[in-house]
Amino acid sequence: QKAQMAGAREERILVVVRLRPLSDKEIVADEVADWECINESTILYRNTLREGSTFPSAYTFDRVFRGDALTKQVYEEGAKEVALSVVSGVNSSIFAYGQTSSGKTYTMTGITEYAVADIFDYINRHEERAFVVKFSAIEIYNEAIRDLLNSENTQLRLRDDPERGTTVEKVTEEVLRDWNHLKELLAICEAQRKIGETSSNERSSRSHQIIRLTIESSAREFLGKENSTTLAASVNFVDLAGSERASQALSTGERLKEGCHINRSLLTLSTVVRKLSKGRQGHINYRDSKLTRILQPCLGGNARTAIICTLSPARSHVEQTRNTLLFACCAK
Ligand code: ADP
Ligand code: MG
Repeated sequence: QKAQMAGAREERILVVVRLRPLSDKEIVADEVADWECINESTILYRNTLREGSTFPSAYTFDRVFRGDALTKQVYEEGAKEVALSVVSGVNSSIFAYGQTSSGKTYTMTGITEYAVADIFDYINRHEERAFVVKFSAIEIYNEAIRDLLNSENTQLRLRDDPERGTTVEKVTEEVLRDWNHLKELLAICEAQRKIGETSSNERSSRSHQIIRLTIESSAREFLGKENSTTLAASVNFVDLAGSERASQALSTGERLKEGCHINRSLLTLSTVVRKLSKGRQGHINYRDSKLTRILQPCLGGNARTAIICTLSPARSHVEQTRNTLLFACCAK
């Protein structure tokens, strides 16, 4: 497998940034928007009152999206290619990273819907192959894995499978019929996430949601014959815990090792992403968290990755916005 990886095309991680508009509540509270996208790839901090800060004021990425950009556009230019690699057998992951209320769920839900529409469109145009699309959804909270399609599965376990890598044992997989079926399943997941919220109202800001589509296909002419081969790959839509958890933990430094509450999965993901962006050399510590273990086959090697960093434009959120941009800079 080493040789295969060395020969693999080096794919950079696609890093895009999406600014959301000020919310009505923020406008009523006289919040000021301090961030502006000045072209297709640069976002600028333009609060002149804060001159003298050591941070740079302009940040450049593969693509930046203004507050009035539609999710459709973010999808087309920031996620579509990575998501659709799944139909040709290439694994991929798309992440939404950002502080709570910056627009992660809003963005990721839309992207999942557009991607599924495109996947079914592709399937309908390729009748020479038979496709099966499987849907599963889990939540990782405090390193415990919950099945979002089955409320009874609250302690899913990971298993190391010699052929398939790490798998989530007993996770519910639904064969996805069409786009409307996706909407039904997403509604179930959302309800499940809300149920968890009542026992700890910060749950959704501390938990990660992974929606995974696995697509299997085989040529119809070989179907059922011995020489038939199945192409299989997964695409993961990952709505991460609020990034304020990572920066809180990082700012407390050494203490986090002594067992104060940290979001292990978010921190490990940051480290893994940083290493991947530097060219995948040396040891990558996927095994340090549940999230990275589950996503390992869809992160390293030939897999494609896109990270969508969501930002609030509000002046009062500037510290978190900068932390998000620093993470985004490390990933590119
Ligand atoms: P997060 O998942 O990061 O906590 P949400 O996706 O729940 O944040 O977004 C917080 C609020 O802002 C929601 O009410 C959402 O509808 C709204 N919102 C987020 N991004 C946008 C956007 N780009 N345009 C309009 N409204 C947005
Ligand atoms: Mg959310």
